[in-house]
Amino acid sequence: MSIERRVQLVEDLFYQLDQESTQFQKSSGISCVSACGKCCTSPDLEASPLEFLPWALQLFLNGEAEKTLLMLTESNSPTCLIYKPLSISGQGRCGNYKYRGLICRLFGFAANTDKYGNLRMATCKIIKEGQTDNYNSTAEAITKGMPVPVFTEYYMQLNQIDFNLGNKILPVNKALKMALEEVLHYYAYRSFPTDLKKKSI
Ligand code: SF4
Repeated sequence: MSIERRVQLVEDLFYQLDQESTQFQKSSGISCVSACGKCCTSPDLEASPLEFLPWALQLFLNGEAEKTLLMLTESNSPTCLIYKPLSISGQGRCGNYKYRGLICRLFGFAANTDKYGNLRMATCKIIKEGQTDNYNSTAEAITKGMPVPVFTEYYMQLNQIDFNLGNKILPVNKALKMALEEVLHYYAYRSFPTDLKKKSI
């Protein structure tokens, strides 16, 4: 399948999740703390290359893919390369929010299935401790059937777009690197997609 088609399907999946997630945030009353970004700095953050394919294509169209690939190759930091710290007090934000990955869209506002098949909300300590009442009532409501995005369901849908790039779960910077390599290899022997570039301006 072409890069353009895969990117379109990943973006369609993101759109579906954004709708579901907005609804969930409205009904749960749970929200991220402004300028938090703490989850982006986790050294254990993992993602698949496929969820960053739209990000990689965008960089390629803007002529920034090679430069970013070099930065990823030379960096030893486990923190997501896209993350932009705002202060030494630990605040920060995503440097390319529109093109963030699936994990970034799910974490905080989605549920995992436990070993008994029950849905359990997966969120951070800051939300659990700072919005305890909302967190507890939402966790309870989920056990009674409140609609919530589910990690495994979204990752299964992602795998169906491209099993090879969707099923690999890697440290986030390795996932970013592989997404860029995929785009650069793909266009190495193809002409530059001028029509896509025009659409993205
Ligand atoms: S892509 Fe953006 S939201 Fe996702 S981990 Fe990196 S900085 Fe955070």
